[in-house]
Amino acid sequence: MTEKEKYLTSLFGLKNLHQLEIYLENGGYEAAKKALLEMKPTDILAEVKAANLRGRGGAGFPAGVKWGFVPKETDKPKYLCVNADEGEPGTFKDKYIMSHNPHLLLEGIIITAYCVGIHHAFIYIRGEYEMIAQRLEKAIAEAKKKGFLGQNILHSQFDLEVIVHRGAGAYICGEETALLESLEGKRGHPRLKPPFPASVGLFNCPTVINNVETIANVPFIILKGAEWFTRVGLPKDGGTRIFGVSGPVKKPGIYELPLGTSLKELIFTYAGGMREGKKLKAVIPGGLSAPILTAEEIDITLDFESLVNAGSMLGSGAVIVIDQETSMLDVLRVVSKFYAHESCGQCTPCRIGVSWINKIVNRMAQGGGQPDDLETIARLAAAIKGKTLCPLGDAAAMPILAIVEKFKDELLGSTKH
Ligand code: SF4
Repeated sequence: MTEKEKYLTSLFGLKNLHQLEIYLENGGYEAAKKALLEMKPTDILAEVKAANLRGRGGAGFPAGVKWGFVPKETDKPKYLCVNADEGEPGTFKDKYIMSHNPHLLLEGIIITAYCVGIHHAFIYIRGEYEMIAQRLEKAIAEAKKKGFLGQNILHSQFDLEVIVHRGAGAYICGEETALLESLEGKRGHPRLKPPFPASVGLFNCPTVINNVETIANVPFIILKGAEWFTRVGLPKDGGTRIFGVSGPVKKPGIYELPLGTSLKELIFTYAGGMREGKKLKAVIPGGLSAPILTAEEIDITLDFESLVNAGSMLGSGAVIVIDQETSMLDVLRVVSKFYAHESCGQCTPCRIGVSWINKIVNRMAQGGGQPDDLETIARLAAAIKGKTLCPLGDAAAMPILAIVEKFKDELLGSTKH
């Protein structure tokens, strides 16, 4: 992808882009003007649906379809919650969008809220992003002063207030219903679904929840159209993704590329390939929850369907590169420790099962592995997968199962025969 074809990150190099003045000088809020002054909410919804904008947070659910689930006629208030919790290990793209270009997110929020008939939006941001939260608050104040937020935005009769809410560091609050609980001031415990947030969400009112990158795409769809968007990406997965590459590559960082780019190309061309003396062993392609791929499996395209066909997932677009010197037992230890720590404890398979796996892995790492350990780990992970209240159970079980299956021979070396 050439620099010219990027759109989400194309202005990132501009000094003080986070200031309203600079954003306006570079075409900022033109999409909001077009949406609020020239389009009906139904036109916007049709355009976003046609663009096949899939959620950039992990699940990849089409944004337009999600918005369409919100009841049009209701006597309850409706809410928009932007998920800026960004807790998936390996993921660091949303912080770039919010810190470099907070007004782009606000513009996406305005259009989304207008489309769905929402007058109160929340940005639920992880507490560790304090500097970014402050930047967002400044951007909101600037936008309000200039009439892009608040009452009667751009003389369109549309009102919108945006509030930044800081989380307190729990991974589970990135799960949409746990996020709602947390926003309501309760413990971040996921809710049973259905009902889904589109009908029963924040304070039991209809609620749209979308990731930062998803919302940041909206202004471009409005300005350039759904057809352009699907041409940039794939017909079924419109647009670009911001991939975050970490691990022993020459140029770790974020790369905005069209959906359908090859994973191999991302690692070996864009990220510069492996560092001197390092050899590729495996890749986690979509954040820690995504099942691992071996070095032989990376010749695939980065889109929702290809990754699912390869037994993994595109998830949050975080690509974690692992080299030959890294022990897979260590990877298993990190994965199981993380999910055991982050389990909210509501359901037994997740609460007991993941800690149990972590204890076994720790024992193996200390030289106390037993012949049937791998079998036990696989049995426990299988007993967690698909049997929990929220996706964290699967998020823990799926990568563990993949590591045990694909690196069995190496792991067997840590068990006594
Ligand atoms: Fe909590 Fe885990 Fe159950 Fe999710 S799967 S509700 S994190 S115990």
